[in-house]
Order: sequence, then C-alpha cells, then structure tokens
Amino acid sequence: MKRHRMLTKLLIVCIAIAMLIPFAKAIHTTVNTYHIATYNFQLDVNAPEGAQVEIEKDTGSIKLWKTITTKYNGSTTTSYSYENLSIPTPSCDGYHFGGWYNDAACSQPFEPSYKTSPVTNDTIVYAKWGKLGEATVVSAPTCTVEGETAAVCERCGETVSAAIPVVECAFETYVSDENGTCTKNSTQTAQCIYGCGNTDTIELPDSELGHIYDADGICDRCGERVQLVAIAGANMTLGNALHMNFLLSIDQIDTTDDYTAKITHNGQVTELLFTPVNSDYYAVTYPLTAKQMNDELILEVFDEKGNAVSAVYTDSVCSYAARALDNSNDSEVRRFVVDMLNYGAAAQKFFKYNTRNLANSILTEEEQALASEKVECINRQIKGAHCYGSNLTLESNIQMNMYFKDISADDVADMYAIVSFTDHTGTAQSVRIEGEDFVHYFGDIYKIQNSALVLSDARKTVTCVVFNADGSIFDHATDSVESYVKRAEGSTSSYLCEAIMKFAVSAHELLH
Ligand SMILES: [Zn+2]
Ligand SMILES: [Zn+2]
Ligand SMILES: [Zn+2]
Repeated sequence: MKRHRMLTKLLIVCIAIAMLIPFAKAIHTTVNTYHIATYNFQLDVNAPEGAQVEIEKDTGSIKLWKTITTKYNGSTTTSYSYENLSIPTPSCDGYHFGGWYNDAACSQPFEPSYKTSPVTNDTIVYAKWGKLGEATVVSAPTCTVEGETAAVCERCGETVSAAIPVVECAFETYVSDENGTCTKNSTQTAQCIYGCGNTDTIELPDSELGHIYDADGICDRCGERVQLVAIAGANMTLGNALHMNFLLSIDQIDTTDDYTAKITHNGQVTELLFTPVNSDYYAVTYPLTAKQMNDELILEVFDEKGNAVSAVYTDSVCSYAARALDNSNDSEVRRFVVDMLNYGAAAQKFFKYNTRNLANSILTEEEQALASEKVECINRQIKGAHCYGSNLTLESNIQMNMYFKDISADDVADMYAIVSFTDHTGTAQSVRIEGEDFVHYFGDIYKIQNSALVLSDARKTVTCVVFNADGSIFDHATDSVESYVKRAEGSTSSYLCEAIMKFAVSAHELLH
C-alpha cells in the first residue's frame, strides 16, 4: 500500500527526480555446486515535491549482508556472508539528507546488520529529506579558503553547514608604481584584498611624464633631444638682396600653434614668429647687411610653450651662397653669387668688420673668375639749389638718401616730399614722405630717405620733389645709385661702390 503511494508520487515528480535507481550489483555467488540466493537492492531518492535530487554512485559504502542457502544431498543449510556495496549520499538544494530508510515515510532507518537484520529479500530503501531554514553565512569565502553557511533542518533540528566555493582574487586599491617615463605611461599595482599576496598590475592612463625642455632643447629628464620640426630650407630675397628666410614645412607643424625662431647672431638673440608664406611653408625673415654675409646665424625653433622643437641649425649668407654655387650650373646665378660675396667682402673692408673672415674667401679661383667685369656708370644727377647731396645706406636694402638745405625747423613739419622712380619691373613707384619724417641732419639740412629701392633698381633714376606747406615746390633733385657710384670713382669708397654696382647689375640680369 505504502509502496503504491510512493510510486504515484514518483510519477508526479518524475521530471525532477532520479527515479528508482536499480542497483545493478546483484548479490550472488556461485561456489561449485552451491545454489546462491540473489536479491534486488534498490534506492528510492524519495525527492521532495518540486525539488531536484542529485546522486552519484559510489560515494559512500555500506556492508550489505547476504544470506546463502546451501542445498546439498537433500539437506538445506543457511549461512550468511556480506558484500561491500557503495551506497551514495544524495543531495538536494535546500534540504537536509537524513539517511536511508526502509519506508517512504522514513520511520524505520535502514540499518543492515549481519546479526540482526541481514538483507534477505528484494529491498528498496528511501532517502529522508528535511527542509532547511534560511542559511546564514558563517564565514565568507576568500581566494584561498572556502566560506561556510549554516542552516537548521526543520525536520530533525540539526544544523547543517555548507561550503561556499573560493572566489577569485579581488583588487581594489591601485597605487602608482611611479615608473612612467617621458614617453611611456606608468603602471599601477593592487594587492589582492584577501591577502594571498597576488598582485595585479595595469597601465595608468595618461601618466606619461612628457619631456622637460628648456632653452637648450634637451630633455632634462631623459636627455633626449626631440626634433619635431626641421628647417625646410633657407633662401634669400633677391629683390632686397640680403634678407635670409628660414622655412618650416607645413607638413611638420601644427598650424594652430605659434612657432618662434630664436636666431642668435653675434651673441644677440632675436625672436621672430613664423608666418605663412604660401600653402607649403611658414617662414621667418632675418635682415642682414652686406658686411654680415659671413656671420653665423644660429637658429632654433620653439613652440608656444617655449619647448625647443627643432635641431640647432646654423647658416649664413656665405653658406647659402656656397650651396647655390654647388647646386647651380646657371652662369647668371653663379656670377650673381660671386658678385654678391665680393660686395660683402668690400663692405667688410670698408666698415672694417670681421675682415679676417671675408665673405668671398669661400670662393675658388675658378669661381672668382666668374665675377662681373667693371660696370660702366653714368652720372645722371640733377640738383636743385637747395639740394645738399645724396648718399647710400647699406642696410638690407640699398637706401638712397637725398639731403636738402635751407629748411626752416618751424616749417619742416608741414612740408612733404614725393619720391618717385620706375622700378626694374617697369612699375611706377611713388612714395609721399611727410615733413615730420624728414630726418634732421645738421643745421638747416634734412635727409629724405627712399627705402623702396632694391639693388636691381641701381640704374633707375629717383626723383625727389620737396613741397612747401602751401603745396608749392620747394626744390627737387634727381639721382641714382649708378650716378652715385660714378661720382665715387677715385674716392676711398670706390671699391665698395664698384662692388655694389656689379652686384646690382648681376641681380638685374638674373631677374630679367
Ligand atoms: Zn534533518
Ligand atoms: Zn587572492
Ligand atoms: Zn624626456
């Protein structure tokens, strides 16, 4: 009856339980002619409704006693033996396994005994389950030690412990390893919070230290000189003869940043901002005078933050000229370069400037032979009564100065001059110079400067008309570089004037 009920119950929960497990190990022995009785031994996991029981074979062992009935010559004797059988311990989440029982209600424990209760029939044993109360954590697991929970069985009152599996190492507080370099991030390391000694090391984002630059352009931390930009080249503005331009290729710079050239010349540092000259280059322009052609310019580029971002670059007009001679087969270019260096050397001698290191000393005899022959000059000067004379200022440009006398200091501020000439390209140039910009020379003599002239204009006549405050003409003069050079023949500056004229004529020929 009980068994019938149990089977019904099993059908209801058949999905969830392991069903009756036929214990395949049949108990029998055959010894010669002995007849051995055999019994079926079965486990019923007796699963609580809705719960799933897990069971593995061979997880425990029990000695099951067997009865051996011996029939021999008509007489029957019964003896007992035993066999070691494994009876598993089942498990079920939320339930306490209370042992195996002979009845489904679990009132009679299955306690086989050789002496008192041998297994002498087909046998089914039933698992006893007690529902566990809520589990409390006795100890939490770590990465090396299992944790433990405890729960009280509602059926038998026993406190049942269960293990909580070990967990993985956990890392919470990372500390920088302070091993970042100028270009590499630092790492950071945390110890396992469970104290197992394991550590975890990861990269600390954005922790690279960056180079420390100052004016020497060498990182104070790692000693590296990082060359971010290179001087793309240098050139000269031939129209004005002696500016030296240094170029940065637009490919190499961040155009939202400002780049400054620090140019050291004779110990003086000049800072110049690079500005765009075309779609390919940014440039700075450094003015030089004729006598400075052999002066070394030391250039370095700095970014907005003041970091040196280029190599130290050294150049001079002479170096530029040497490169031009090496790179050009054009006879006009070569003659122009030679005349330019001869002009520089003449200016050095005239101004007694660095004469041991003359600009044209870099020329071979063969190159020196390319120099222009003497240039024929004509004096086209026309002077008014108040004209005191003319001279040249040898700055980057050739500046023609005209002097006028008999000018009253009271009137000068209201006077003005119109300086006009047709330049070497055929374009009419006209510049109005206000009286307040006339430069007082001495006494009643004032200087009017024309800085619009370039070397190629040397043969162009310049007319300067000076006006009174009321607009009437005060005086006028006409002159030219050529005329000045002609007048200088035989003077102490004649060799310089001759060099200028040769250079000017070469420049004109090169440009036309
Ligand atoms: Zn229990
Ligand atoms: Zn750990
Ligand atoms: Zn560095």
